[in-house]
Amino acid sequence: MHLTELVSFFANLRHDPVADFKAHVGNYLGVKHVFVFENARGAMTALIRALATATPERRQVVIPSYTCYSVAASVVKAGLEPLVCDVDPNTLTYSRQQLRTLDLGEILAVVTGNLYGLPNDVSDLESFLRGSGAHLVDDAAQSLGATIGDRNSGTFGSAGLLSLDKGKVVTSINGGVIITNDDSIAHKIKSIQESLRQQNPGKKLIEVAKLLAYTIFLRPSLYWVPSRIPFLNLGETLYDQDFPIRAYFEPFASIADSQLARIGEINSHRVACARIYEQVLPNSSRIHQIRPIPDSSPVYLRFPLLITDALVRRQFLKKSHRLGCAASYPKSIPDIPEMAGRVKVHNQMCEGGRHVAASIVTLPTHSYVRQQDILEICGGLQSTLAETAYRHESQ
Ligand SMILES: *Cc1c(COP(=O)(O)O)cnc(C)c1O
Repeated sequence: MHLTELVSFFANLRHDPVADFKAHVGNYLGVKHVFVFENARGAMTALIRALATATPERRQVVIPSYTCYSVAASVVKAGLEPLVCDVDPNTLTYSRQQLRTLDLGEILAVVTGNLYGLPNDVSDLESFLRGSGAHLVDDAAQSLGATIGDRNSGTFGSAGLLSLDKGKVVTSINGGVIITNDDSIAHKIKSIQESLRQQNPGKKLIEVAKLLAYTIFLRPSLYWVPSRIPFLNLGETLYDQDFPIRAYFEPFASIADSQLARIGEINSHRVACARIYEQVLPNSSRIHQIRPIPDSSPVYLRFPLLITDALVRRQFLKKSHRLGCAASYPKSIPDIPEMAGRVKVHNQMCEGGRHVAASIVTLPTHSYVRQQDILEICGGLQSTLAETAYRHESQ
């Protein structure tokens, strides 16, 4: 986030910039209807409820075994049953074999993950679901600007989601967007949205304070500061099901809007960081990079890799936490304690998701990351590998 955006935020406080932002999102992604909520969790809950009204007999929503915890929370909050389908650890997309054995008759929707800005195999999913009566919901909370073929991530299926939360591609501290080309879905979401309460003034002041703190502190050299401020919840991995569904704090739209205007620049920096990681990361049987699916252009919200040696992973994370490297998310969906009894696991298979949870490390690519930070991170991994190789040998 640029300081100039902060200035324009205060300059725009008395306008309502949300209409502009919605028009720009619609234009950028080529979608007809755009709705903005306080966060993507709330937006997802509203979307699922809207979809469910047409087919109340369909009670299950398929979610990846490894994704953001809020996705599972939204399904539960919407009063439906999350059905976990396992992912392929090489690509983080649904395992083809697991997907093909789903009984689509009871399924309301299948939700994508598109984690870290790497699109799932959505065109395959779309053709698989065609004619089944089950919706595809394209969760592009982490992948705004990524493409598959000539189509935008988030625009596959019946409806898509974007998040404007901290640490997403475009952020205004919070915010969640539903996009759809379907008039009847849009109509239902509109009536849910019209029933929402606005945020109270005290809450708004807190939002502005968070915005200031976030703008000032998100630099690698200062990263230790926000990681110790609890309310910012950076690298947040808490499961929370008790969130209200609320309206967006509309003045924030000017911030999201000015970032959207330079999204090409934002994402090319992230992709450039990813290129360096790809080339400089040490080659080792203990380190696996995630493969983008064919014909996709990821935006690399973070750079994910799997470190299969638990000792290397632990030591590297300890050493590199201050540089913004993290082990997110720490658990597969069925292993979140609060999910016990609330989730069904398709074929009892969660091996892929568990493997990812146990070995994933994500490296930063945001706009304050410089080449020297990347080299330091990769060098740190290299030396951890060397140290532990020695230790393994001497045991
Ligand atoms: C962040 C995220 C969400 C939820 O977004 P919020 O705006 O924080 O509610 C949903 N899905 C994915 C994949 C996410 O990364």
